[in-house]
Amino acid sequence: MRLCLFALSAAVLAVHADPLELVKNGKSDYVILVKPAALPATMAAAEDFQRYIEKSTGARLPLRKAEKAEKPAVKIGFLKVGTPEGFVIRTEGKDLHISGDDTGGMPYGMNWWVSGANARCGTWSGVCDFLEKQLGIRWFFPGELGEYVPKRDRLIVPELNYSDAPKMGWREISWLVNWKDMPQPDRIAMYAWKRHNRVGFHVFQRHTHAWGLYFNPKDLFDAHPDWFAMLNGRRSKINLYSHEPAMMCTSNPEAVKAFAGNIVKLCTEKPCDMFPISPNDGGGFCECPKCRALDKINPDGSRNMSNRIFSYGNALAKEVNKRLPDQMLGLYAYSYFVEPPDFGLDPHISICNVHNSCSYTYHDPGIRAAHLEQLLQWRKKARHIHFLTFPEGMGCLNTPVYNFNGIKMLFANLRKAGIDSVGYAASTGFGASGLNKYMVARLLWDPECDIDAVYADALDGAYGGAASLVRDYFAEVERRIARFYTEGRVSEDVSLGTRRIFPGLYERCFPGLADAWLNRLKAARQNLSDPGQNARIGMLIDVLEYTELGVQLHRISRKVSGTPKPETADLVAALKLLERRGTLEERMHRLPDNMSIAGIRSYEKEAMPYFSAAVYKNLLAARTQKRVRVKRIAEPVRMDGRLEEAFWTGLPELHIDLDMKEGEKRPVGAVAKLALTGDSLLVGVRCSEPKVSEMTDSVTQRNGPVWSENSIDLFLDPSCQGKNYYHLISNSLGTLFTAKCGTKDSAWTPEIQTAVFRGKDFWSIEIAIPLKTLSDRPVHGSVWGFNINRARRVGQMKTEYTCWSPTFGGFDQPARFGRIILE
Ligand SMILES: [Zn+2]
Repeated sequence: MRLCLFALSAAVLAVHADPLELVKNGKSDYVILVKPAALPATMAAAEDFQRYIEKSTGARLPLRKAEKAEKPAVKIGFLKVGTPEGFVIRTEGKDLHISGDDTGGMPYGMNWWVSGANARCGTWSGVCDFLEKQLGIRWFFPGELGEYVPKRDRLIVPELNYSDAPKMGWREISWLVNWKDMPQPDRIAMYAWKRHNRVGFHVFQRHTHAWGLYFNPKDLFDAHPDWFAMLNGRRSKINLYSHEPAMMCTSNPEAVKAFAGNIVKLCTEKPCDMFPISPNDGGGFCECPKCRALDKINPDGSRNMSNRIFSYGNALAKEVNKRLPDQMLGLYAYSYFVEPPDFGLDPHISICNVHNSCSYTYHDPGIRAAHLEQLLQWRKKARHIHFLTFPEGMGCLNTPVYNFNGIKMLFANLRKAGIDSVGYAASTGFGASGLNKYMVARLLWDPECDIDAVYADALDGAYGGAASLVRDYFAEVERRIARFYTEGRVSEDVSLGTRRIFPGLYERCFPGLADAWLNRLKAARQNLSDPGQNARIGMLIDVLEYTELGVQLHRISRKVSGTPKPETADLVAALKLLERRGTLEERMHRLPDNMSIAGIRSYEKEAMPYFSAAVYKNLLAARTQKRVRVKRIAEPVRMDGRLEEAFWTGLPELHIDLDMKEGEKRPVGAVAKLALTGDSLLVGVRCSEPKVSEMTDSVTQRNGPVWSENSIDLFLDPSCQGKNYYHLISNSLGTLFTAKCGTKDSAWTPEIQTAVFRGKDFWSIEIAIPLKTLSDRPVHGSVWGFNINRARRVGQMKTEYTCWSPTFGGFDQPARFGRIILE
């Protein structure tokens, strides 16, 4: 360990005096003093000092609340420190002083909302600095096994007189993983890890997607449709392009005024240092002529909405500050409005520049330079700039994301642009991210520190004799992922979507990684006797084995997803891999790894449905292709959507109730029936719907976006080849979308009759498709590929997709269609 390292970054003033002998032969004459009225933040610092001196030396110093002591003392929090979050460490006679800028509030965690709820913990930062420099203690990961505490029975403190303070006013490292499934002791250990590494803030930042929270169409649309986005020519209560609520029409001054009024009310009731005003996530921005007039069109045809969004920000700030003159507002600068606008920003607006996946994209010098240029341009337009990044990529698979070089390049840019407020949103547990978070914490405190030296020190402390092997391993992982990101396979835009990235990682980055490294890491582990170092290299081994299981699983899933009749052996093998993976997950879920199983499941569900055991179980069960006979009927059909004529009862039922991705049966289903009548194929569907009153379907234009509403999807493949087949969607109003699939020319707009009906707890539809538009051959006796699916979208509920023949993916999967036999 290079213990002198951190001393280099702070001024050390040494005047000749006797050193203090704080601990001798595992015993101490010292007492720890705090003032009787010490704040919780100061008290927590003193307790931490006591705990770690004992851990290292075995000596437990008594901790007293008093102004004076007869014995020599470690005086915690006795000196006044004016620099925000700063600290002073000073020896005076036989006493040692550690004091910092402390405030009331919680010393742990971050309460985002209430002004002053979070304590400034300058004293505690001083204690950690002392423990690092004088005792060589490091906090690499949360929990006991993540710490490095060298043992000693003597502690001599030289004459000290120095101070330090963070260079950044907001230093946050957050997790995308689901905090909900984290046991309480682990949660406390996580906060302690943050505190030890001096994550915290004194300049409050909050820029989150806010309209859904404070300007929601649920409450406002009915009275004020004009306040919301115009989409496809009409104001819409639901957002057709995102899971978030409908967006604001930002060029409507009444809407802006109403939002301002709401902010003033909320901030008066509960003052908060920065109120977020950012648009909702995803698409669905207003298409009204007034909003669009403010946009620019980029050379690639995409839209630059910066002028629209930041003029809205300025107008809102003006309104809010009329009544709350100092209120700060936080507004994202990302996606369609990541570039600076043509005008300056109101000084009450803090923007939050977002550059995702930067640890990897930054390996491309062009991207690196362009981002620096963007930040420098922003400097000219905005007084307050915060930077937020999901540097390791969006989402969380808990595969390796080691990225020291990317972090280094990123902070070099932030330093050049004078950014003093940074949020680092990590996405994985500590085994998968290695020393990333620890390194980021150092840079957040002091972006100018000698980061290469800090890294070498950290590798030594964390991995002991395996340090150089681990350094090479981390570097190879970073090279592999950076290549994947910068060779044009993942652009910044695509990186926002997990769907494309995750399978790509398993396909292109990780194959061969375990072959090259697993045995070497395991051999190195044999030689590590320090339990912490042994456990920490164990975390790397677990993540690598886990990743290799993912590579194998991905290989099987590719094979299985493309075929209607997967091999039983493949399905069984996949289930075995998933079982081994589950055992590893249980272990990695706990500290010091802190992997989130729930987080991984939710991302996998979106990006890789074939990583679920339910899929393979249901595939095993669904190996027989669904088949149904379609009878010819002679009776006349009343097209009224009710399905009430007698002939319906005699027809076979097609149950549409299997989850699209996993094939699990869903509680709310639908039943379809088919018949041949005259020269048409008649399809009748009855969809159970306990929430009929919450259906808001409104598309009435042929080939409009009916797929975003309550709808039925039909796939008809008369040739059974999976090549030229027909796709028909109808929403609950009977509005159709029709197209040809698997062919260049997708145009197909035949005359098709629909009739709909809405009951108390269901809606139903009849569709009559002329056979001649599907096939010019006689249909009698022919077998067609067929599927029928349902999208259920009511209220704020997440859309439910169900199938007759489960597709284990999107609806459009001809290999997984069932068969209809036309009589
Ligand atoms: Zn508008």
